[in-house]
Amino acid sequence: MATLYLVSTPIGNLEDITARAARVLAAVPVILAEDRRVSRTLLLHLNIGTIPEIYHDFNKERVTPRLIERLKSGTDMALITDAGTPGIADPAYNIVRAAIDQGIRIEPIPGPVACIAALSASGLPTDRFVFENFLPNKGAARRRVLASFTEERRTVVLYESPHRIVKVLEDMEAIFGALWMVIAREMTKIHEEFLRGSPRQLLDHFAVHPPRGEMVVLFNPRIRCEPLEKEMPAAQ
Ligand code: SAM
Repeated sequence: MATLYLVSTPIGNLEDITARAARVLAAVPVILAEDRRVSRTLLLHLNIGTIPEIYHDFNKERVTPRLIERLKSGTDMALITDAGTPGIADPAYNIVRAAIDQGIRIEPIPGPVACIAALSASGLPTDRFVFENFLPNKGAARRRVLASFTEERRTVVLYESPHRIVKVLEDMEAIFGALWMVIAREMTKIHEEFLRGSPRQLLDHFAVHPPRGEMVVLFNPRIRCEPLEKEMPAAQ
């Protein structure tokens, strides 16, 4: 019986690959990756010539049984996703669950994960938090999920896209008013920035600087804006 390694990879800056991740990726005969182009950049950086097999949301159900058979017959595999830790908002769960059911050994190789990097630098309470992943696409469902946090005492962490962030901020302003929130954008990359302020201040910012790049949204309904009003620079 082989091992399925869940290898965390950088969320932008290639220097964030760990020594252990590099060693495992170089050693395994099979690398499963979400996207060949994305993984190629990392593997080239590590000087690893293995051509990854594709494991993504659209083939995971079809290919998992065969991959499990190969693991059972002794082929070690490393699973990487486009960024960060496999299983966090990406397709890894499916094969992890199937491997557990078949008694296959699973070994996480820990490393970057966007929600934790964002939380640690957010300035919001980190002692207790809830990760809500991506909000629903449809407006009514999205507002329902956001409204379910009005009594929440833990810090809430969401993944968001630049195309939807304005709608999300409008919903948040309507539901929470002037809470003090944080958007962690493009972490570990050249344009990394942490935007802090009320939903309205962030909307004003994006009206001048159109939203771009990858983002994590964080808020805690108990942390309000008033004493921190000056935090967000006025849009120029
Ligand atoms: N498995 C990944 C992890 O460990 O964080 C998350 C994969 S999920 C498909 C991608 C989302 O993570 C992006 O839409 C964004 O919300 C967030 N994300 C990933 N990299 C990021 C970065 N460098 N800066 C900010 N957010 C990032």
